Amino acid sequence: MVKKGQNCTLYGESVPEIFRIPSGAPLIGSVSFGVIDRGTNVIQVRPSTSCSLSCIFCSTDAGPCSRRRRAEYLVDLDHMMEWVRGLVAVKGGGVEAHIDTVGDPFTYPRLVDLVSAISDLGGVETISLQTHGYLMSEGLISNLAEAGLDRVNLSLDSVDPDLAKKLSGAESYDLKKIVDNAQYLVENTSIDLLLAPVWVHPLNDDQLEGLIDLAKRLGAGRKWPPLGIQKCEFHKSGRRTKEMKQVSWYAFYRRMRELEKVSGVKMVLRPSDFGIRAAPSVAVPFGRGEKLSVRVIGPGWLKGESLAATKDLKWAVTVVGHELPVDEEVRVRLLRTRDNILIGILC
Ligand code: SF4
Repeated sequence: MVKKGQNCTLYGESVPEIFRIPSGAPLIGSVSFGVIDRGTNVIQVRPSTSCSLSCIFCSTDAGPCSRRRRAEYLVDLDHMMEWVRGLVAVKGGGVEAHIDTVGDPFTYPRLVDLVSAISDLGGVETISLQTHGYLMSEGLISNLAEAGLDRVNLSLDSVDPDLAKKLSGAESYDLKKIVDNAQYLVENTSIDLLLAPVWVHPLNDDQLEGLIDLAKRLGAGRKWPPLGIQKCEFHKSGRRTKEMKQVSWYAFYRRMRELEKVSGVKMVLRPSDFGIRAAPSVAVPFGRGEKLSVRVIGPGWLKGESLAATKDLKWAVTVVGHELPVDEEVRVRLLRTRDNILIGILC
């Protein structure tokens, strides 16, 4: 929980270390970095974990107010591209590369180079990224357009500057600057804009209609839907305040249909609206409950965890429950293998 008056610059009790993922480490298997393959033509690309904001509803507890982060990961560009290339080849064409980190992609120092390198790959049809826009600038937007970025999913959670600041957990959050940058993006580049507000019930209940108007005014949705309101989900290791209440999926879709009627804008989105379809996938060679030997290669991104790899260096495995020394070999039992994400516990 984020406490009122908390000095967020202290990162809780300790500042997470910046951990460069070692060359040769596998970039598949972790939710926090590398690539994620969920069995569709969309591949998630996660080159860094940091964030400059501290949204009070952050499901990944990112940014300076984080209390659970132990390390912020950074992946070298060539290393990242080696794995992106490999995964794109598995998909066999029509790929959307979606850069959506557990922080904000704009913290990756080589974001423009990453987009440029991905756009050079045969088989990639669309490059998109997910951001709260805090680090966007006109120069970066122009460079990203030139590099081949097709869509920005921009999370703007309020049209009221004070509420937007409160939700972002950052005094320096400047709503006007972000809206101006979004306008620049639409008016001066071929990048499409999709507003992706997080509905943080009941804090921004009265903001949703204003956000739809803003999307229309900005000219969002030239190729894809203009809006994709996200439901705020409470996560075990995420942040929330006492004011926030969880909305059921039933109530969420009921509200989306109401908004759709009033605004005439499509609010209930389907994977097909983004061209998402099933596609060949990297097969996880392990099952849930299976035991295997792994070697620790770094700190976990969250406290109480370690980052490990299988002995053949093909899979990253997050070991929960222990902060183990690097190079230690341990036996783990897998708690999760779904979506190619491997989480294990010592056995
Ligand atoms: S919600 Fe996004 S922008 Fe906000 S703190 Fe979390 S990762 Fe950063």
